[in-house]
Amino acid sequence: MELLKKRILQDGRSLPGGILKVDSFLNHQLDPNLMYQVAEEFKRRFEGLNYNKIVTIEASGIAPAIMLGYITQLPVVFIKKKSPKTMENMLVSVVHSFTKDRDYTVCISKNFLTADDHVVFIDDFLAYGNAAMGMLDLAKQSGATVEGMGFIIEKSFQGGGDELRKMGLNIQSLAMVESLENCEIKIR
Ligand code: 5GP
Repeated sequence: MELLKKRILQDGRSLPGGILKVDSFLNHQLDPNLMYQVAEEFKRRFEGLNYNKIVTIEASGIAPAIMLGYITQLPVVFIKKKSPKTMENMLVSVVHSFTKDRDYTVCISKNFLTADDHVVFIDDFLAYGNAAMGMLDLAKQSGATVEGMGFIIEKSFQGGGDELRKMGLNIQSLAMVESLENCEIKIR
């Protein structure tokens, strides 16, 4: 997606440890026009799949997911990173965050992810694939089918995309970052 690539090259910053900082349009300040274009592109890429729900993980997946939900008129549910005391029928998994270097518990209510659901998962980044694996675990526990997974930015050098594709999943990434070495952003 050309617009997205340009924006990453223009406004992104490569941080030590293989982290891309894009907080001026995706991770802190949000660009609604770009989020809309991103959602249109996800809609196009998942055209033909039979899905009834969009699942994401808080926080930065919510903006593109809600845009996709709006244009497809499908409900959006986000996986929570803290377990609220009030959640009913909770499903739980553990995810390792490499940006924060810690494990955290993620959860979703069985009321909103069931064996009848065919979902598309949306997230901001695909790195090592830990968040995606957590989502797949929650989907397995609930009996839901994952029809596709869409990421705004995949960092291909961290290998998560390869793992997920090897599992036969439909993985769509809108920008593929090949390297962040020497503070230089290289996009395929
Ligand atoms: P993974 O679980 O695939 O290793 O990493 C994906 C999650 O970590 C995403 O949900 C995202 O929030 C965060 N993340 C991974 N890499 C980056 C990065 O380079 N920049 C930012 N801002 N977040 C990242």
